[in-house]
Amino acid sequence: MSEAQLRRPRVCIDLDAIRHNASVARHHAGNRLIFAAVKADGYGHGMQAVAEALREQVDGYMVATIGEGLALRQSGITARIMVLQGFFDQREARQAARGLLEPVIHDPEQVAVLKSGHTGLPLKVWFKLDTGMHRLGMAPEQLARSLAELADCRWVRARPGLMTHLACADEPGHPLTERQLGVFHVFSRNHEGELGEISVVNSAALLDFVAVGDAVVRPGIMLYGANPFLGGTAADHGLQAAMRLTSRLIAIKTVPRGGTIGYGATFRCPKDMQIGVAAIGYGDGYPRHAPTGTPVAVNGQRATLVGRVSMDLVTLNLSGLDARVGDEVELWGPTVPADEVASHCGTIAYELFCGLSGRVARCYTGATREQPAGVD
Ligand SMILES: *Cc1c(COP(=O)(O)O)cnc(C)c1O
Repeated sequence: MSEAQLRRPRVCIDLDAIRHNASVARHHAGNRLIFAAVKADGYGHGMQAVAEALREQVDGYMVATIGEGLALRQSGITARIMVLQGFFDQREARQAARGLLEPVIHDPEQVAVLKSGHTGLPLKVWFKLDTGMHRLGMAPEQLARSLAELADCRWVRARPGLMTHLACADEPGHPLTERQLGVFHVFSRNHEGELGEISVVNSAALLDFVAVGDAVVRPGIMLYGANPFLGGTAADHGLQAAMRLTSRLIAIKTVPRGGTIGYGATFRCPKDMQIGVAAIGYGDGYPRHAPTGTPVAVNGQRATLVGRVSMDLVTLNLSGLDARVGDEVELWGPTVPADEVASHCGTIAYELFCGLSGRVARCYTGATREQPAGVD
């Protein structure tokens, strides 16, 4: 890599950390199947690379769209793939069937597509029950009707799966979770004979409790080493950060007391200050709303942002630190948890991970596949 490239932002993905986090998920999942959430390009970590790295550790994958599912198939993934938004028309339903994808049916429109259609091969489908999140999924009565309507459809394999999604699993003990689980279990008991596998939990719920009858667990964020809960830290659960976003200092200057930093002059130096300028900004996906005080690490030493984030640059308070032009700045990663940056920005690590732009160079470390025992 040239000197010039070194001064651009880089994101390094540690596949061993992802594999470590999957082993934490496995510990909690016991003998339930694990479908790893790799939607949105593996939460920004690279869908194919993540899927490949987890090949030996998970039982399937979860994506949002048929297109993402087909891309996984094209990259050689043969494991099961659940498609959360399912299909919207005949063409997508046929693509799902041909790709052996497992679409989620969450709306009566999709039932109509299957009833009037011809997918070529019978589909393995999941029905999504809206148990109280009121986003995707059908209410119990509607879902019962849809199940009955598709009961003898030759394009749907017998005993479809039943799933739901929890709105507040990130807050252990939230009363909505118990209500949602109640609705789910009443429905699954009433329709036991018609249904196959059951799937309830995301990362937070997987770490927090065991849902009755759950056969397939659906962790996402924990695999990437961020904290699925509102409180505490990822490290509390033995999770390791997989993404490390870095750049370099390209200038250092002393700004006199009373001087202001950057656009809008939002930060005024209370004394003479050493200010560092790092080559990363919102054009790279670093959040523009990161306020003064947002943590970074310069040569492994914690420092903070001062002034506004601009398109290609951020300004840092280097007072009292040992730093030179060319030194590395970690924006988030093992030293500065993405969760901490996210909470300064009023968002969650999920959004930071997904938001990096194509301008950021990417690299991978760690084995892409588990080495068989005894082989180097
Ligand atoms: C994304 C997603 C998950 C994974 O959630 P995490 O909070 O990342 O563990 C599970 N289920 C559904 C339906 C999802 O959309």
